[in-house]
Amino acid sequence: LRYAHYAAGVIVENFPELDPRFDRGQASDWMRELAAHYERMRRAHPDDWLCIVFDIDGTILDMRDHVVRVLLAYDRERGSEQFEGLRPEDITVHESRPGLLLDRLGVADHLRADVLAYYAENLWSAETMREAGGPYPGVLGVIRWFQLQPGTVVALNTGRPETVREATLTSLNEVGRTFRVSFSSELLCMNRRDWGQGVQQAKVDGLERLHARGLRVVAVVDNEPANIRAMAEADTTGEVLFLHAETIFESHRESTPRTVAGSSYELRNLVPERELRRRVQFVWHGVNDEANLLQFLASGIGWAETDVRRDPLGRLVLRHDSFTETPWTRAERPFRLAELISAVGEHDRSLKIDLKEAELLEPVLAAVREAGLPDNRLWFNAAIDTLGREGFAQIVASHPDAVISSPVDFAAPLLLAAPDLARRFLATLGAWGVTRLSVDWRAPRIHDLLGVLHPLAWDVNIYGIPDLEAFLEASLLLPTSVTADFNFPAWNYFGRGSGENGYHEFDLGAAAGG
Ligand SMILES: [Mg+2]
Repeated sequence: LRYAHYAAGVIVENFPELDPRFDRGQASDWMRELAAHYERMRRAHPDDWLCIVFDIDGTILDMRDHVVRVLLAYDRERGSEQFEGLRPEDITVHESRPGLLLDRLGVADHLRADVLAYYAENLWSAETMREAGGPYPGVLGVIRWFQLQPGTVVALNTGRPETVREATLTSLNEVGRTFRVSFSSELLCMNRRDWGQGVQQAKVDGLERLHARGLRVVAVVDNEPANIRAMAEADTTGEVLFLHAETIFESHRESTPRTVAGSSYELRNLVPERELRRRVQFVWHGVNDEANLLQFLASGIGWAETDVRRDPLGRLVLRHDSFTETPWTRAERPFRLAELISAVGEHDRSLKIDLKEAELLEPVLAAVREAGLPDNRLWFNAAIDTLGREGFAQIVASHPDAVISSPVDFAAPLLLAAPDLARRFLATLGAWGVTRLSVDWRAPRIHDLLGVLHPLAWDVNIYGIPDLEAFLEASLLLPTSVTADFNFPAWNYFGRGSGENGYHEFDLGAAAGG
């Protein structure tokens, strides 16, 4: 449904070099267009600095949050209760139409004039600007992606005037922090006139200033059709792809050249995992059965993660749940650790073994020793209380160069609240032989937690990834590794999934032999 939603919103006009994939009747997507266009420009101008330009309000920041904040501030200051329970989704008109908004919200007549005056005074005040509203989902991932690309910068081109430069930078950098996105003053183009004055000309001037600085502008994202028209008309290079963010906009929708439109920033259509794979180790979660093994071997993923258990017959088998949690059945066909180790060895892949029980340590080490996998292709993971100091020491003794990881989300409150204690705790883990910290993406305050670990220079593994967008977002933070179920429905493995996403396709040819 979500796919149908944005596909329906896409307009492609007068753009001569459509990606050939769309000729198959496949719906176009603006992020996919952006990816294809960027790649073409990169090939055409390998030595130039490429620049992707974003408008701020209504493009990066959801103005509805901003409007809600101003109205709630009114209630707080006046001691009134006109906007009790107000949520961003209740804001259904452009921020420049407060009268209409107050009608829709049913604000008391005697307060209207006062609310409108307050609104006019505060909507764009530096005070309000200092706190940015919510960014649209995915947009900071898109910006992060481009900021990671070599020879590429992201610029901001806003109708906000110079007077709020500092407040704008401060608030946007605060919003971008969790995504490791940052904006610089040199790449922030603002309106040299006053609020709302000559915005379209300001947008054109902004692009010209970027050109003058030697940047090759290749894409511009804005939510106002009138701004896009002005910039498209002034563009003499013919190289700029315009992206209309269909959020809430004021000017009339109109056809503009070289414009694609969309209403959600979906990383899946922009970020190819083959690029991420060069920077992040991917670990296929739960290779505990033959189906997952085949899919894993068909993928380009380097690491297989598996859970080892001892079955009631005393054999080492691969199983996520214990036999107490989920009793076996007559139909269950056990998949043995030895089979997996030899498959991984034959295909030059690497193995991450999740040790769920201490008593499995010795037999697992024996099985690994027998198979002769080198240390650089081995990874052991265990909770600190499962193995304890002695258990970890035993792994280090047998495999001094293997990865040894342990989940640390349980210590998140400590890591966040008591940095000194946290450093001692982590030093203890290091002394035990742990080389990598594993954190659950679903943990509360995960971004803060990653922010604490990042400067400490620990290798970090992220696990607990619920879906493809989360996987891409987590990977863009460039942890050492990400453990995920790579058979997301939107990807193509052996006909599984909807196959809607050609951009995330693994080479299945490799599976033929496996
Ligand atoms: Mg805007």
